[in-house]
Amino acid sequence: MSWLFDGHLDLAWNAIDWKRDLRQSVANIRQAERGRTEPGYGTNTVSLPALREGRVGICIATILARLHRPGNPMFGYATPEAVYAVGQGQIAYYRALARAGDIRLLQWREDLDEHLHQWNRSPATTPIGVILSMEGADPVLDPSNIDEWYHAGLRAIGLTHYGLNRYGGGTAVKDGLAPMASELLARIEKLGIALDMTHLSDQAFDEVRTLFQGRILASHQNVRRLVPDQRQFTDEQLCLVIERGGVIGAAFDVWMLQANYVRGESKPNVTLNTVADHIAYVCDLAGNAHHSGIGTDLDGGFGTEQTPTDIDTIADVIRLTDVLSSRGFADKDIDLIMHGNWCRFWREILPPRPART
Ligand SMILES: [Zn+2]
Repeated sequence: MSWLFDGHLDLAWNAIDWKRDLRQSVANIRQAERGRTEPGYGTNTVSLPALREGRVGICIATILARLHRPGNPMFGYATPEAVYAVGQGQIAYYRALARAGDIRLLQWREDLDEHLHQWNRSPATTPIGVILSMEGADPVLDPSNIDEWYHAGLRAIGLTHYGLNRYGGGTAVKDGLAPMASELLARIEKLGIALDMTHLSDQAFDEVRTLFQGRILASHQNVRRLVPDQRQFTDEQLCLVIERGGVIGAAFDVWMLQANYVRGESKPNVTLNTVADHIAYVCDLAGNAHHSGIGTDLDGGFGTEQTPTDIDTIADVIRLTDVLSSRGFADKDIDLIMHGNWCRFWREILPPRPART
């Protein structure tokens, strides 16, 4: 039986900004949230018990805090200092979960090896492995501040999110990188932090391509040829991630799976089989199954109103193994897609644990 490495979950943002107790079942959280209607609210699909039920052994969990910008309707805090503080608070949340034994933070290569050893022997009693990533670099006060985040356990970062931020252009805009970005990229490369290309504008993507020679990934990323919108990557962009040894996580947001989907208006009309279309496309581009992974992004600003119709909670994602199998994927390739490629990638990225002095 396979298991799942989910390349993108906004756990702390859900727990803190959306005030969800992730230790509860998905059903209990829904019950507690009956009648909730604020903007951006979606019926939840993720909780720690659901992750266990869905055999999620490891996930990349985000620090997600945005600086408010006039004209951008998305959530955000008023000052860089406040964004920094919220991001640090999200790390503190993950530490609290780790202290309680719900998760295990994987900062070093040995952490990953030990975790996989335990998970393969006894998944039921193993905490869920968590690698920390930052979605949008707004919490980084200035480029030199990245060292502090690295020492706090950050192992991946995406510079931008929706719209423009202090480091450059993201989804739905045409701005390139901001002046501060080049020094930040140099420091990221030197520290060995992986760069998440997801949410870069096309212009920023092109600049990163030449400026940054470190390791890259695309944590929650679908195919523009299948769903034409700037949020998805062109074949050329996907090929760059493949050529540089990255992994592309298939995302489960219907807006990224269904062409011409209008948020809040259209009805979902896609299934796990549609997710498999994006996986198959990436595998065809690569000529192998070594660069395709999963990055569901479930509860990443959308709920069941905007998830594939055969997904009720994250526990259902593991059924993708059957879908891939029915489409003729070999068992060994299904294992690579469900977890093996991310495990290989992170084994290469995570630094060895420093010797105690
Ligand atoms: Zn995202």
